[in-house]
Amino acid sequence: MSFADLGLSDELLRAVEESGYTVPTPIQASAIPSVLMMRDLIAIAQTGTGKTASFVLPMIDILAQGRSRARMPRSLILEPTRELAAQVAENFEKYGKYHKLSMALLIGGVSMGDQLAALEKGVDVLIATPGRLMDLFGRGKIMLNGCSLLVIDEADRMLDMGFIPDIEEICTKLPKARQTLLFSATMPPPIKKLADKFLDNPKSIEV
Ligand code: AMP
Repeated sequence: MSFADLGLSDELLRAVEESGYTVPTPIQASAIPSVLMMRDLIAIAQTGTGKTASFVLPMIDILAQGRSRARMPRSLILEPTRELAAQVAENFEKYGKYHKLSMALLIGGVSMGDQLAALEKGVDVLIATPGRLMDLFGRGKIMLNGCSLLVIDEADRMLDMGFIPDIEEICTKLPKARQTLLFSATMPPPIKKLADKFLDNPKSIEV
């Protein structure tokens, strides 16, 4: 199995090759074709399995094929911590270097100025922690009704940190017709419940 077998674009294959990866990890091999076919996904996977690229790579191709609508973000990635959100943003930059996608990193602990400026200009991808996202949404600074692709990463850590009510609220603000990908190292009952409520006929993967 090689990256070329997964259905990714040539530009993306080039960026992957330049990052030094030659063989997809099991979660990448299993998740990428299914995400590209627009299916919902539940993946039980630890950090270190290559799970970040398993959603970032197909997302880039999906967004590159679609068309942005008047400054509305088209996708949202939720991360439990600033550090994880920043890492995902770095991955987006690395793999997306041959695409013209724009993103905003919406995390706490930094001034809102740059985040607001990015939102004003319009972005394709929001990478956010739930607290800062809710804060900006409450101030009327973000439109979420164009986000038809949602990633909930590290769902069990979100649970430990008390973010599930925020995530439920965010989900209700996104379009109903959307693709949702949920990643978690474990699947405790509240996460199973969240998945049952907000995912539609998901493919399940455990690595
Ligand atoms: P993650 O599980 O997404 O945190 O990724 C763990 C580490 O594996 C990161 O340092 C990635 O850069 C690296 N990685 C991801 N995919 C591959 C791959 N296909 N081959 C080699 N390394 C990879």
